[in-house]
Amino acid sequence: MKKKIGLLYGGKSAEHKVSMQTALAVIKALDTDKFDIHPIYITETGEWIKGNQLTGPVETVKELEFKRQDGHSATVLSPDLFQTNDSPLDVIFPLLHGPNGEDGTVQGLLELLNLPYVGNGVLASSAGMDKVVMKNIFEVAGLNQVKYTSFIRSEWQGAKEAAYAKVEENLGYPCFVKPANLGSSVGISKCTSRSELDAAFEEAFQFDRKIIVEEGVIAREIEVGVLGNDYPEVTVAGEILPKTDFYDYKAKYEDGNTGLVIPAEVSEQEYAAIKEDAIKAFKALDCSGLVRADFFLTSAGEVYINEVNTMPGFTPFSMFPLLWKHTDVEYAALIEKLVDLALERHQEKQ
Ligand code: ATP
Ligand code: MG
Ligand code: MG
Ligand code: MG
Repeated sequence: MKKKIGLLYGGKSAEHKVSMQTALAVIKALDTDKFDIHPIYITETGEWIKGNQLTGPVETVKELEFKRQDGHSATVLSPDLFQTNDSPLDVIFPLLHGPNGEDGTVQGLLELLNLPYVGNGVLASSAGMDKVVMKNIFEVAGLNQVKYTSFIRSEWQGAKEAAYAKVEENLGYPCFVKPANLGSSVGISKCTSRSELDAAFEEAFQFDRKIIVEEGVIAREIEVGVLGNDYPEVTVAGEILPKTDFYDYKAKYEDGNTGLVIPAEVSEQEYAAIKEDAIKAFKALDCSGLVRADFFLTSAGEVYINEVNTMPGFTPFSMFPLLWKHTDVEYAALIEKLVDLALERHQEKQ
């Protein structure tokens, strides 16, 4: 029996475009002998549009940007979006990054509808989305990480100089300023002076009411993929070689000039530490399905966890799928594995 898979993509987030690329790649990879594909598009303004079941090949992102007037059905958020001919879809794959997608909100909706869905549940998604909450949980789990502090917009607006002094005192330069709830390096700046810090706060607060500031480390960037539910498995290590000052948004999606090295040259000991911490992080956040765990590795061999991404970049050229490819799980097989894990998790909840 074919499975009816609902692909949820687009979204009202700064990562809308990335999600569109992912959706196109997943649609191309899905085996139509095994799956009926039901697209559900969320526009940049947050409108939900159910497309008709895909019957032929799709070649461009444009074809997935449905317009209301083109005869696609539901245009409001309703359980109807997840049904076809009055029966519910078998599994939903939220191909969404960032707020309103990767942060537990959509996961909560799918829980309420009692539908199986790929990836992390409500708690892991929301805790993983907020870098401050995530790091606080990692702290309790005993994971090694860089020093950090956080600020709320209103608190900063009233006392900017005090905020900067606190950063300088506790973290020093260089430091990284990030919106608490985002990804793809959107709104992130590296600062080496007070004036850069001021500009970086202004920038990050454009995206969030809460920001995190971290001590900057000089280190290699190593990432691993984790897949599973109760018994997560870890890929080989991959390394990012940014050609820019750091791995910023442009380097990720526009320049295409970032080198990904898989497998990364790390010692057995370093890999063992990274693998152990990746699983520890996965369990600390009560993850399921998948995460990509990002690390810093210093020349002294010290391992710091930077973050986990509960819905990592998922085009065939993204780190997570490439890591699995080098671990002998091809893109299409990876998608099927994620669907199986979603169904398994749903079963266990019943
Ligand atoms: P994504 O989810 O796409 O991985 P993100 O928006 O969650 O990205 P981070 O991974 O936290 O952001 O940071 C983006 C990049 O900035 C890192 O890959 C690294 O190049 C640099 N960076 C972030 N924090 C630090 C730090 N504390 N020290 C040194 N470099 C850092
Ligand atoms: Mg991230
Ligand atoms: Mg992210
Ligand atoms: Mg990262």
